[in-house]
Amino acid sequence: MRLFDTHAHLDFPQFDPDRNRLIEKLARQGIRVVNVGVDLDTSRASLGLARKHHHIYAACGVHPHEAKDFSEDTLRKLAALLDQGAVAVGECGLDYYRDLSPRDDQRRAFRAQLELAKEKGLPVIVHLRGEARDELLEILHEVNPGRGVIHAFSTVHGPPRDFLDLGFHIGIGGPVTYRKNAALRALLREIPLERLLVETDSPYLPPEPHRGKRNDPAKVRLMVERIAGVLRLPPRDVAELTFRNACALFRIGA
Ligand SMILES: [Zn+2]
Repeated sequence: MRLFDTHAHLDFPQFDPDRNRLIEKLARQGIRVVNVGVDLDTSRASLGLARKHHHIYAACGVHPHEAKDFSEDTLRKLAALLDQGAVAVGECGLDYYRDLSPRDDQRRAFRAQLELAKEKGLPVIVHLRGEARDELLEILHEVNPGRGVIHAFSTVHGPPRDFLDLGFHIGIGGPVTYRKNAALRALLREIPLERLLVETDSPYLPPEPHRGKRNDPAKVRLMVERIAGVLRLPPRDVAELTFRNACALFRIGA
């Protein structure tokens, strides 16, 4: 069974003790990963992992938490990094939940990265948290690179339809396994199968029964199994279709 975790941060210090061992294990299990940058340093680290491992792919971008430091210089450096084999721009977006950067800066950095994605012909990995849905959709209507994923999709994102209409995929992670998250499982039926992706957001958002522990890309299997149960499909089919969707979105050979 092939699996594709479309969102992980394997360069984060949580993986320092066993990173190489874990990455080798993922290769043996047929698991591919998009490793996602949150600033210039982690974007560089993502490219480094992708160069070293055939089953790891890099996304380069600046997270809304870091948007306060997003300058013309950041944009130039990010553009140069993207040319080194990145498969997506991200993660970028709006976070009005933690508000770690002023909202003006968040909007400016997001817009600039959407324009960059458009220019480079790359998909975007979008982070959306807090009461930012309407503004994010407004910005996407103005500058839509045409391809991308709304990552860690949850009920606070509202109906998937508005994002689907803009050409986006929907990334489903650990919360789909939480006992109290029947509402998210109900949303699954609104996502066309060809737009569905799975992700872990490792080391964060571990699925049941691993809550409170470090998450890792091998656990994406648990999301696939839960989604398969809801959609009454064989897990193998959900694994294969999400694998192919990821390859198509990020233009990676299947
Ligand atoms: Zn992330």
